[in-house]
Amino acid sequence: MMKKGIDSGVQTNHPNKADYGYPQPVRSPDNAVYLDGWKEGKLMLQKCCECKKPIFFPRPMCPHCWSDQLEWIQSTGRGEVVSYSLIHRPNHPSFNDEVPIALAEIVLDEGVALLARVLEATPSTGMKVNLATESEVTSRYPLPVFRPET
Ligand SMILES: [Zn+2]
Repeated sequence: MMKKGIDSGVQTNHPNKADYGYPQPVRSPDNAVYLDGWKEGKLMLQKCCECKKPIFFPRPMCPHCWSDQLEWIQSTGRGEVVSYSLIHRPNHPSFNDEVPIALAEIVLDEGVALLARVLEATPSTGMKVNLATESEVTSRYPLPVFRPET
């Protein structure tokens, strides 16, 4: 099978994301803005209009004060790795040619944490990372991915 890793240099001849066979997120009214934002190279977060706290992952109510008055904000896309794992045995065959996959817990500048892939480097605790926003990346990966800050 052809190597699929973005760091392998073989990614330009794939016309659409389906070629990678990645499992796709289930779209819902709660996460549609988040998923659409990623396809435009943006990381969208919710923010509570009552208590003003940022919220991740997308949901219908604030987990801090239970308000349903939420708005969307665009994250800076900057964050810091607080923990990570190198996955050598993925749970889906579409990832088999890309191991090890670096999956990191990233605390964003806004203060919320998410799990995301880090491309092109082995993460380390404290590593500064940025959202990868190139269209070939956003069209390939179903969810936001990061790379080390340069
Ligand atoms: Zn709130």
